[in-house]
Amino acid sequence: MRRVLITGGAGFIGSHLAEHYLAAGAEVVVVDDLSTGRLDNLRRVEGAPRLEVRIADVCDPSWTPLIERCDVVFHLAARVGLKLVVENPLGTLETNVDGTANVLRAAERSRTKVIVASTSEVYGLASRYPSSEADPIAIGSAAGTRWSYAASKAIDEFIALGYWRERGVPTVVARLFNTVGPRQTGRYGMVIPRFVDQAIANEPLTVYGDGTQTRSFCHVRDTVHALARLAEEPAAVGEIVNVGNPQETTINDLAARVIAIAGSRSTVDYVPFAVAYDERFEEIARRVPDIAKLRTLVGFRPSADLDAILRDVVAERTAKTSEEVAA
Ligand code: UDP
Repeated sequence: MRRVLITGGAGFIGSHLAEHYLAAGAEVVVVDDLSTGRLDNLRRVEGAPRLEVRIADVCDPSWTPLIERCDVVFHLAARVGLKLVVENPLGTLETNVDGTANVLRAAERSRTKVIVASTSEVYGLASRYPSSEADPIAIGSAAGTRWSYAASKAIDEFIALGYWRERGVPTVVARLFNTVGPRQTGRYGMVIPRFVDQAIANEPLTVYGDGTQTRSFCHVRDTVHALARLAEEPAAVGEIVNVGNPQETTINDLAARVIAIAGSRSTVDYVPFAVAYDERFEEIARRVPDIAKLRTLVGFRPSADLDAILRDVVAERTAKTSEEVAA
């Protein structure tokens, strides 16, 4: 891959992907509207001669001619984070569906390969575990507040596969499961940066619900590696592929590990979902990926377990806290 375009390239995952490709000698074009992305995420590669940053809305067609001169597009730009989704369900649908349609319409002109980021949220209320790609997707009702994100990403998946089957645009759908690691912000709800900041400040960790719900966290370094390998693998075209780490943990266990690894004096506060989000919020009780398909396609094995992930995040956020104190 010599020329790579990353929508959402100033975001958490996108900026790690940009660093990966710049280190590999590729030219990288980042397209980001800086709504949740930040130029600070690209601080380590700022000024790199092979990096171009275009500040633009993913739904705006005027930047899309940039796609024609690229070998692959990683389409990561989206409204993510449950706090944002619950506050603005319609905006979530608009950005995520219009953005994907805009990217794929442009990619059709040059038949450029597009890796579309989807999400484990589409497994929603499904009751088979671990979740595998051929399982039915089970999105809750529009009466609930969380499901516009899953609905938007499910439509993105149909759009992506439709462009492959009916228009000949090579696409891969990557269903990302709880990607975490350095640079992720807790501002939009994500649990690990929130718990780590609370632990460093010796404040109570806010566990939502009773903490028995489970998630499976994947280090962003592993996610980036999987995305890059999928982009190179011809057999992945036209496929939906889970990307994640099957190590499943309860949120109670996560809180205990964060407190231990941060060496914190924090306790745990239990916060009802209705208070954390709103009365119409439905929690997903369990989430764990089956990654057999990813393993078969690209030989993927996660390199970082949960404790290694937490050590990285604690180190990063401890350094950040002391930088802020010094400033
Ligand atoms: N969570 C929590 N406290 C927080 C933020 C999140 O207990 O301060 C829980 C949340 O209820 C969910 C899990 O942590 O069960 C992961 O939340 P996140 O928003 O990171 O991801 P998602 O729910 O989209 O998997």
